Amino acid sequence: MNSGRLRILLSNDDGFRAAGLRAMAEALSAIAEVMVVAPETNRSGASNSLTLDRPLRARAIGEGSYAIDGTPADCVNLALTGLLAAKPDLVVSGINTGENLGEDVLYSGTVAAAMEGALLGYPAIAVSLANADEQSNFAVPAAALRDFIARAGTLPAGTLLNVNFPLESKGASWCATRLGRRHKDTRSVRQLDPKNRPMYWIGPTGSPGFDAGPGTDFHAIAQQLVSVTPLQTDLTAYSSLEDTTAWLREGSSRT
Ligand code: MN
Repeated sequence: MNSGRLRILLSNDDGFRAAGLRAMAEALSAIAEVMVVAPETNRSGASNSLTLDRPLRARAIGEGSYAIDGTPADCVNLALTGLLAAKPDLVVSGINTGENLGEDVLYSGTVAAAMEGALLGYPAIAVSLANADEQSNFAVPAAALRDFIARAGTLPAGTLLNVNFPLESKGASWCATRLGRRHKDTRSVRQLDPKNRPMYWIGPTGSPGFDAGPGTDFHAIAQQLVSVTPLQTDLTAYSSLEDTTAWLREGSSRT
């Protein structure tokens, strides 16, 4: 940590105007110098994508803060690789409008912004408010996270936490969880355009319940608890290494 005041890079995927980001910026500014680098528009579902086919523009939106015409990962990458003069002590992403539980984290731009910070060697926290809309009260969870950081301090470099608040979060207890899983019960939606040509919408996320028992993030939110899941970026399936090795041996053997 720097010797002076805490410095926090704040991003999100709902865009720099989103109520959740505004509330988080206001709350964190009581304990830290907050630098906002966030997308110009809503890029929810962008996951970890980086924009590589065109240059990016950074529009100043305040002292040390920028809106970027790119993805959440673009924002945090640029912020930490030259855009900002000062390095942060912590990267925070959110507060997202809606939960990021189970396999949501694979698609989430909120988690991706935090993950980009973790990949570049910073401690990072992704924050979401379950069942929220733009009119929800983001001030209560924002203040709760601020107070938690003020008490507990920042985390080791590269630590990535996925925090989900229940919609009624005032006074809620915090608990460590693992990712659960959703049912695979979504269908894409087919519609016809005015010229009778088919067009498609990606379907909504599946309902919780495939793996939502005690210990999971789904269970914590259902119990009105604040869910905190530590995430890692190593996707290696260690339990399959042996089977893969055997498969390769089969494929290489000649009879
Ligand atoms: Mn979002």
